[in-house]
Amino acid sequence: MQQIGHFIGGKIVSGNSGRFHDVFDPVIGQIQAKLSLATIDELGLAVASAKKAQIDWAATNPQRRARVMFNFKALIERDLDALAALLSSEHGKTHADAKGDIGRGLEVVEFACGIPHLIKGEFSQGAGPKIDMYSMRQPLGVVAGITPFNFPAMIPLWMSAVAIACGNAFILKPSEKCPSVPLKLAELLQEAGLADGVFNVVNGDRIAVDGILEHPDIKAISFVGSSAIAEYIYAKAATYGKRVQAMGGAKNHAIILPDADLDQVANDLIGAGYGSAGERCMAISVAVPVGEQTAEGLIDRLRPKVESLKIGVPSDASTDYGPLITAEHRQSVLNWIEKGIAEGAELIVDGRNTKLQGYENGYFLGGSLFDKVTSDMESYKQEIFGPVLQIARSENFEQALAMPSSHQYGNGVAIYTKSGGLAREFASRVDVGMVGINVPIPVPLAYHSFGGWKRSAFGDINQHGPEGVRFYTKTKTVTARWPEELLGSEFVIPQMK
Ligand code: NAD
Repeated sequence: MQQIGHFIGGKIVSGNSGRFHDVFDPVIGQIQAKLSLATIDELGLAVASAKKAQIDWAATNPQRRARVMFNFKALIERDLDALAALLSSEHGKTHADAKGDIGRGLEVVEFACGIPHLIKGEFSQGAGPKIDMYSMRQPLGVVAGITPFNFPAMIPLWMSAVAIACGNAFILKPSEKCPSVPLKLAELLQEAGLADGVFNVVNGDRIAVDGILEHPDIKAISFVGSSAIAEYIYAKAATYGKRVQAMGGAKNHAIILPDADLDQVANDLIGAGYGSAGERCMAISVAVPVGEQTAEGLIDRLRPKVESLKIGVPSDASTDYGPLITAEHRQSVLNWIEKGIAEGAELIVDGRNTKLQGYENGYFLGGSLFDKVTSDMESYKQEIFGPVLQIARSENFEQALAMPSSHQYGNGVAIYTKSGGLAREFASRVDVGMVGINVPIPVPLAYHSFGGWKRSAFGDINQHGPEGVRFYTKTKTVTARWPEELLGSEFVIPQMK
């Protein structure tokens, strides 16, 4: 059985804790590797290596650091197919989706190539009599990222590309469910010319996470995962005096006004609701048609599309989506479907019994569609994170606007309408961090910043883009006055001794 270790000080090292996590192949439901879970000492080695390497890395000029990012970008492109196949083998998402996952991360690497421009600081000449004032952005030192299973390439790259280009050293603690792509990225960074120790991967569970939170040499923590853990990370990291951004779960609504193009909406909802088996933090999980006619028209179009979704293996190009990540997660989604039925929602497409011939032990689940979901139902209030779309009918614009606004999560939301005025009103009033207008999954590009509101994000600085640069740097402001008497006097060049 393959054993997976860590990447510390510029090389792959096998773990020595004797504790392992089973990494599954979700297509066949079997263990494919044993992941070593780090000890506090192993984490300590990674931090010590990062701390040492960061001094020279921070002193390397920004354009040389950016050149490493240019090389890294080219290497990811070179290995895209192999990385995508590796990613699918642990996650189960289709190859097209896996390439999308890597591609969105690659865009952040491209953004990081231009970071010298964003850290060059500000200068005010003559801020007072003979006084100049300037500010510079300096790296924090050693920083860490803790990432979820659902984007094994994109999310580690959101964090690490920006942090490293700003002059920090990085410790990544990836999801124990999909550890291999992060290790490959570490090797590619090495090949791109990154010095040993600037990027480290420490695989582990709560012991490693707590070690990261408590380590005095780690100055900032980026976290993406479920809200309960995000809140824990945020609170604990703050007590240890660290800078922290912690992104959590989601329940993203799509509001459909009566003037919307229902064919477009139905097509978009199939991709946004069921793509990647619904295991996306920006998946649309609730559709809110306004008015009975809109609801009926939407259901007429959606039902046959959900019934004909093609569940399959990741390498089959005609597959709409693959298996869920683990047997436990599949069971949790099934439990939510049972709960929805018990709460009185109408299950109008039932994907529970879908099996894939030849892969009966894989974690596959068909697409399910609920109608008549209401905001008092627990299955509406919580994140399901599976191939389940809930229709929650509303009577008017104000009622529809209130649904995402009063939900505990506030990651993304979409509105479908031809009315510019209503779309504008919605975008300005809705209590959610990322808004799509006739766009189902409004994920900001790398040069903007990504982040939700309410229980979808703890901390106030978002991922990547300008906010990512702010997160991974601290501002130093210098006020300088030079002695007046030198002005007009003969200038004497100081002699070197
Ligand atoms: P998760 O919270 O289970 O795990 C995330 C990370 O936390 C992993 O590295 C894991 O090892 C670690 N972790 C898990 N339990 C822990 C514990 N008790 N103590 C310390 N560390 C712990 O999340 P997941 O299942 O990997 O990912 C899915 C979740 O992530 C969903 O809720 C999804 O909405 C969310 N997500 C959010 C965003 C966003 O940007 N808001 C993006 C992607 C995923």
